[in-house]
Amino acid sequence: MTDIPADDFKIDLRNDVTVELVKSSATDSDVLFAARVSTLGEQSLDELQKDPERSKGLINYLMRDRHGSPFEHNSMTFFVSAPIFVFREFMRHRVGWSYNEESGRYRELQPVFYVPGQNRKLVQHGRPGKYVFVEGTPEQHDLVSRSMEDSYRQAYRTYQEMLAAGVAREVARSVLPVGLYSSMYATCNARSLMHFLGLRTQHELAKVPSFPQREIEMVGEKMEQEWARLMPLTYAAFNANGRVAP
Ligand SMILES: Cc1cc2nc3c(=O)[nH]c(=O)nc-3n(C[C@H](O)[C@H](O)[C@H](O)COP(=O)(O)OP(=O)(O)OC[C@H]3O[C@@H](n4cnc5c(N)ncnc54)[C@H](O)[C@@H]3O)c2cc1C
Repeated sequence: MTDIPADDFKIDLRNDVTVELVKSSATDSDVLFAARVSTLGEQSLDELQKDPERSKGLINYLMRDRHGSPFEHNSMTFFVSAPIFVFREFMRHRVGWSYNEESGRYRELQPVFYVPGQNRKLVQHGRPGKYVFVEGTPEQHDLVSRSMEDSYRQAYRTYQEMLAAGVAREVARSVLPVGLYSSMYATCNARSLMHFLGLRTQHELAKVPSFPQREIEMVGEKMEQEWARLMPLTYAAFNANGRVAP
């Protein structure tokens, strides 16, 4: 095997996630025209402007009484770059989501790895489902940063050695850890996004509290910001009704 010294290559250490809305067709009007076909029997895209108060009321009623399907007639595509352990959790969301992820078979994986930032709480107390996270000490932060970097360097060096020796990418990648960044496009609609946000964010307005891992919550928070801008009435109704997907 070719011997590559661990410090012969650069690795990138990140403590954040990237979420970009790359494509969307999603407005509150999409909810209204879908709902009003029940009574009007025709598309009614102007309704939002005509009577904003009624529109707001209708969206709130749909949310409150969990008439979910009118919230499906829209689409948002996000580019996400995050550690693989976030993707493993993310892709458990099967319904109303489409995914395409970069391939570790077809391309060489880049040395970009996750190390928790200084404000990431490190210590957990309590029992599963009821954990409380508290700050780590400076020593714990130091240990985490150093250990992760050492381990990432070692793993990536081994990966490179195998590639240099002619081993296929799909075989060599086995040594890479779940802290490695991956990227994907994820497409959803407002209903599936609300279900995701109800489970993957912690929020004071949530009627049913969830306890997600902080890193997937970081992705959720960024998606939520984009969605809130596109569909403000739907977003307000989601919050007003305890952040339970209809
Ligand atoms: C805090 C937290 C901790 C978790 N811990 C674990 C864990 O320890 N281990 C683990 O394996 N997972 C864990 N999960 C993942 C969890 O079990 C779900 O897989 C994930 O949250 C996706 O939820 P979902 O199935 O409701 O979403 P989706 O797959 O998007 O489904 C949406 C909804 O469609 C319906 N649906 C979808 N598929 C079916 C089906 N086959 N049959 C009937 N109805 C269906 C359900 O109503 C479901 O809520 C955890 C999730 C959270 C938020």
